Amino acid sequence: MLMKRSSLLATIIGLVLINLMMATSVHSQFPQPWDMISTVPYYLAAPIIPTVTGTEITFVRPADVDSLPYHDGMTMREWIHYLNARGTRYTSFTEAYYLDCQYLPDSVFAWYPELLTEGRMINLDGNPVPYGDYGDDNWVFCEATPAWHNFLLRVVLLAIDAGAEVMVYDTPQGLERCFCPYDIQGFRDYLKNKYTPEELAALGITDIDNFDYGQYLRDAGWTASSLNSACNSGQTSDIPLWDSEWIPYQEFQLRQHWASLVDSARVYAQQRYGRDIHFAFNLSGWGGAIWKLARWSSFTWIEIFYDDMIYPQRELTIPLVKVCEAAGRPLNPMTSPTEPFSTSDLGRLQIAELYSNGGIGGPGISSQPQNQLMIPYFQLVQFHPELFDAQPDGEMAVLYALASARHDISAEIAFNGAGYLLSDLHRTFDALFAGDGDWMDDELTVNKMSRYRTVFIPNQAYLTETQAAVILDYIAQGGVVLSTGQVALYDPDGNPGNWSTLQSLLGGGYQTYGSGKVYAWTQSFCLDYAAKRGVEEPEAENIRNTVAAVLDTLVPPWIATDFPRTVIFERRNNPGTNSLIYHLINFNYDPGTKQVIPEQNHQLTVPILETQSADSLAVTLYSPDDYAGHILASPSQMLGQRLLYKRATSNTITMEVPELKIWAIIKIEPGKPLQRPQAKLQLADELDEVHVINHQPVFRWSYSDPNGLSQVAYQTQVGTSYLWADSTLLWDSGVVISDTTSTTYAGLDTLADGTSFIARVRVQNNAGSWSEWAQLGFRMNTPPTVPQYLNPAGGILTTDYPEFNFFKCSDVEDHVDSLSYNIAIYADSNLTQLIYDKRGIRKPVGDYDWVVWTADTLLPDNLEIYWRARSFDGYEFSPWSPVVHFYRNFRNDPPYPPILLHPKDGAPTTLHPSFTWENGGDPDGAVDVCYYNIYYSDD
Ligand SMILES: [Zn+2]
Repeated sequence: MLMKRSSLLATIIGLVLINLMMATSVHSQFPQPWDMISTVPYYLAAPIIPTVTGTEITFVRPADVDSLPYHDGMTMREWIHYLNARGTRYTSFTEAYYLDCQYLPDSVFAWYPELLTEGRMINLDGNPVPYGDYGDDNWVFCEATPAWHNFLLRVVLLAIDAGAEVMVYDTPQGLERCFCPYDIQGFRDYLKNKYTPEELAALGITDIDNFDYGQYLRDAGWTASSLNSACNSGQTSDIPLWDSEWIPYQEFQLRQHWASLVDSARVYAQQRYGRDIHFAFNLSGWGGAIWKLARWSSFTWIEIFYDDMIYPQRELTIPLVKVCEAAGRPLNPMTSPTEPFSTSDLGRLQIAELYSNGGIGGPGISSQPQNQLMIPYFQLVQFHPELFDAQPDGEMAVLYALASARHDISAEIAFNGAGYLLSDLHRTFDALFAGDGDWMDDELTVNKMSRYRTVFIPNQAYLTETQAAVILDYIAQGGVVLSTGQVALYDPDGNPGNWSTLQSLLGGGYQTYGSGKVYAWTQSFCLDYAAKRGVEEPEAENIRNTVAAVLDTLVPPWIATDFPRTVIFERRNNPGTNSLIYHLINFNYDPGTKQVIPEQNHQLTVPILETQSADSLAVTLYSPDDYAGHILASPSQMLGQRLLYKRATSNTITMEVPELKIWAIIKIEPGKPLQRPQAKLQLADELDEVHVINHQPVFRWSYSDPNGLSQVAYQTQVGTSYLWADSTLLWDSGVVISDTTSTTYAGLDTLADGTSFIARVRVQNNAGSWSEWAQLGFRMNTPPTVPQYLNPAGGILTTDYPEFNFFKCSDVEDHVDSLSYNIAIYADSNLTQLIYDKRGIRKPVGDYDWVVWTADTLLPDNLEIYWRARSFDGYEFSPWSPVVHFYRNFRNDPPYPPILLHPKDGAPTTLHPSFTWENGGDPDGAVDVCYYNIYYSDD
């Protein structure tokens, strides 16, 4: 059958005859994730190209390309060139068992008339099977027919010609209800190869060369309708030969079909273009189904809906991503959260967990602006391939045995449960993939297992004989195995396993074997944990505690941290660059706000590589998250933020992770450790720090950085003690993003006089490192007391240089003798007309209680003089004393002329006039008595 199809191929397409045995070595060279970014995804389309902005961003939807390759290679080629010109590589996506003609030009059947004559699936009643309810010309096709098989191949070859690098097939399983002549013949051949005539006779088949399974079923009373009902309800056990022979034949036929098609296409791409073509199949579902066609896949392409990825109610993802990588088929999930990225963090969480676990691709990005919030996540991947050029390096492994998954759905659920159980215990883990020898090769070896000190085996009851032997060897050589539930009981066919030593070791409790240790829980903790995690939290916690008690005893944990359980760690390394990568993902998702709640300032102690030295490491934190507003990361953030670390032991280091929004990546590599910037703190505008007079003191610091980096932020605090834990915090500026080097006290409390305080400042450089706190003690000055008993105060002063005096003042900080005084003299009670300001007055030396100042300037006379005094301690004046006043009259001034009233000048008068005048006043005021002289004359 295979040969027949190949020669048909050569005839129809005109190819050089393809040697199907010439298998390419694609399987052994799976693209690394960073390759896949450029080679795979229409999902990753243009948004990861920084030069493409706004509406130019292209998202290639499956519907756009579904129909293109069938007949119009030129159009598709142009399309691919368009994408390539924007740095985007191209995946073609097509259906594998039907043509949905609502997307197809009608001409497809003119180009490929054989599709209608002999390509369609034929039901038990002999009629072609329509596809869905989409009207005419929508048919289900049969991959056993050369017409359909070759049509599919033709599509691939056109896609290769046009430049596509990946073909993804949707619905590749087909339906197993076709009774076309090719299937009838195929089933005949299958049975003939499998059984002797005697065995066939025992099955009731006497004439195999003319055996028609369709007729056989019709003779037994089956119709297309009753067959469909039985199949759709899963009640197939009554259909003769169905489960035992027909389904295995369909499986065989399906795999022959894909093997032929994929190999032909790969040979074509190599021979014609010297390049590769990758394949993937949309195979979803439990029971290991995704591995059904994995042999021909470059990566795993399945539909996952991420709306349930809210921690901790989760099904697949992290363990699944890991097992796909372990099987050499990195996961490229087809679907994404239905929540828009603008309103929900789910999509960002998905990218974080996908790439941190070795997955590729990711959700689609449309040109809608809000979905561009995803771009920094892809940019981080694109701009920092070194962060992803790393292999899994967890502290333990979880075994995934495909034979178990195929037999028992609970094995797969328990595998996921084990993954989350370990994640929740902050244990990093990798998946160990063990093929079943059928769908996937069994490549488990002691070497692969021995990379891990500990291997967890959750409910994997079906193993190959090789796997049982490898596990036993691993234990004998010093491995630690922890198992839950039923483990290692059967071979892939379901027969009891012939490996009693291992079975007895895994039968329950603690045992040693060789240099190794085994702890087997008969309870299905991992299965239970998958179900109860987050839903029945007390029970989940019991499981965590029970497992952790044993695990921590047998295998000390690698990571010590005060991050909550909702933060999950992944560990990878790159031996080539001697670098170690820790991924931190924060699943603390709030379904109400649909945002992840950020974590801040957590301690993290992690082991480094044996090849690294704890004294000379460069530790850098990368994140696509802008912590402040959770908007697009800035280019400088993409540069990474150097972290300080401390050597904890010879092979562990401790650091503080300042912030974690969703995803942070810590790279630890050989290098010069980061040194802190430094600040020196002082007070601005003060004579000294023990006589501070400004109640809003200004703190000024000098900034220096050993790496020449500049200041980007600072924080200032004022408290009451160098023991800051006990200190009363009067002011905390908080972290201020600024390169300024001074700040003014802005605490609500007034800094009390005569009290000491501590100020401190720390500065941050543009690599994110904080200095130590620079500290400065200071004391608020107390002003001296106010002068009292001012004299003169009242009365009239007649001396020309009067003496001013008052009682001496005191000061808590200084001796009284060091005080000086200030007298101010005014001409008005409102103190607006300053006459004299005398400073620097000293108390007489000696045992005097009075300060005396004799005026050293002649003050105005005949005036009410107002004056006041204050003291000065060299830093600060006391308040003013109350104002006192006195009248000054030291000089006897002549009186003013009288004001003549009568008789008036020139007016006629009597012989005996009466002279009247008014007192003109006296500058000396009422103090003087006036005498008058009168003169009169006739000229
Ligand atoms: Zn068929």
